[in-house]
Amino acid sequence: MRVLVAGGGGFIGGHLVRRLLDEGHSVRAVDLKPMDEWWQVHPGAESLDRFDLRRLGPCEAAVDGVDHVYNLAADMGGMGFIENNKAACMLSVMINTHLLETSLAANVQRFFYASSACVYAAEHQTDPNVTALREQDAYPAQPEDGYGWEKLFSERMCRHFREDFGLETRVARYHNVYGPIGTWKGGREKAPAAICRKIATAELTGDTVIDVWGDGHQTRSFMFVDDCVEGTRRLLDSDIIEPLNIGSSELVSINQLVDLVADIAGISVTRRHDLSAPQGVRGRNSDNTLILEKMGWEPSIKLRDGLTRTYDWVRAQVRAELARG
Ligand code: NAD
Repeated sequence: MRVLVAGGGGFIGGHLVRRLLDEGHSVRAVDLKPMDEWWQVHPGAESLDRFDLRRLGPCEAAVDGVDHVYNLAADMGGMGFIENNKAACMLSVMINTHLLETSLAANVQRFFYASSACVYAAEHQTDPNVTALREQDAYPAQPEDGYGWEKLFSERMCRHFREDFGLETRVARYHNVYGPIGTWKGGREKAPAAICRKIATAELTGDTVIDVWGDGHQTRSFMFVDDCVEGTRRLLDSDIIEPLNIGSSELVSINQLVDLVADIAGISVTRRHDLSAPQGVRGRNSDNTLILEKMGWEPSIKLRDGLTRTYDWVRAQVRAELARG
């Protein structure tokens, strides 16, 4: 197949391009960022940088001649970014809208959209001892302000392009994805990468006091990027037309996440809780009943295993940065 990965210079996009190349597909990776800022540039793929997919013209060029489109392009980051950049997050609606329009015109066979657990109604996420989120819990709509509304709207647009125009769309609701070769500093990083960075810095400098956002009792599940890519490929090839959770159901508190990374690093740390920092919802987990029923598969890479690989990579970045001074 000829495949477009929109956002191919990003974290998940870089891993997905590698997987598609390994499967023997012809891959075009497109991103807004200049190529020297891409997480992975694969020699076997056609890589196009400085493509602003909020605009119609670049979308027309990006989808030209492709069979499948994966839309992973979005202006996004962890809680620190999305709580403070709501308009920027919502502008990603233009990316999906123009990619849908141009994909339809270019007779694209299948279109994948990367949605998020941030579409879920806040009322289901007020307790750290969460009831895992089922797909139907997205309605009545009360998503994360800004980022979550954009995701929910774009999900529905995918649905109506399929119902009204016959474009085969597939929608995944990713729950917190982590792994090596992705954002680990700078303000857009998510909790696992941030905690790996803080603990690697503690390990390498001997200063073992680390800042933790919130009281640490907030809970989440975290999915290793290999599971994310596997689920994405399975969903694209499937007949599953409704939005589907792709997430781990291994629930941990942020304090447990810190304990796990410190244990992997072989050090103990002292936490300084910052109660004024952005924390997001109180508790969130993925209910995997539907994915198991439809696919007979769910993300299963253990948090400790994925974090060990992530920690090794983040530690190498921190060490290189410390060496540069
Ligand atoms: P990322 O930020 O690493 O990748 C997104 C890429 O999109 C970036 O490289 C960025 O430069 C690119 N992009 C942004 N605006 C663009 C534009 N106008 N034109 C072209 N490219 C543009 O993020 P990621 O973690 O790889 O996430 C990929 C997708 O998965 C996003 O849609 C994100 O919302 C979704 N998602 C991610 C997670 C997660 O935990 N990482 C969770 C839920 C959903």
